[in-house]
Amino acid sequence: MASVLVVEDDPVIRAALTEVLSAHGYAIKTAHQGFEALREVTQGPPDIVVLDLGLPDLDGLDVLRMIRGISRVPVLVATARDDDREVIRLLNAGADDYMVKPFSGGQLAARIAAVLRRSAPDANRDREPVLQVADLRIDTLARTVHLADRELSLTRREFDLLAYLAANADQVMSRTRILSEVWQQPYLEDQTVDVHLSSLRRKLGEKASQPRYLHTVRGIGIKLVSAP
Ligand code: CA
Repeated sequence: MASVLVVEDDPVIRAALTEVLSAHGYAIKTAHQGFEALREVTQGPPDIVVLDLGLPDLDGLDVLRMIRGISRVPVLVATARDDDREVIRLLNAGADDYMVKPFSGGQLAARIAAVLRRSAPDANRDREPVLQVADLRIDTLARTVHLADRELSLTRREFDLLAYLAANADQVMSRTRILSEVWQQPYLEDQTVDVHLSSLRRKLGEKASQPRYLHTVRGIGIKLVSAP
């Protein structure tokens, strides 16, 4: 069970976040103030910190910098402002992601899951290094794709999408799941997947109306077929 340190001075928000994150299966610790948060990070490091910027004792941005001085723990910042300067400041100070208040508990849980996935050092360790599907050969270490003898030139996302579908060949994958596992951002628009799918199809020399490998299953998702 991943542990989350919730740093929030408002008791009502703190209780609400604790409740929703517990319901998502996280072990919750809380801190009301910046110094308390720093002590928690030093003494019993959590897997991720959710940091409110408006704290009574210290500026949240300073807390973030101090955490970065002592730890690589992922930090998701809750801010009341979403202007460009603020976001740049937060990311430069070492935030892994940010959320603008007010946000839903469900979105917070999804963002925490995404940050934890990205920060997992061995997330890809047990994948097959080379995927061969009919005459499609995907080398996930060299990050090359060959269709028969021809090497395809793919963007990073196209490659990740193709490798993901090939690793799950013959299974229909929903766009939400693809966004969450390939993009690590389940809250993006479904069209993001479709744009990349259509350029992938072009590079594979196929059309949505006459698919070979990449089949759209209407209303459900996308499937890479192993016997095209
Ligand atoms: Ca506050």
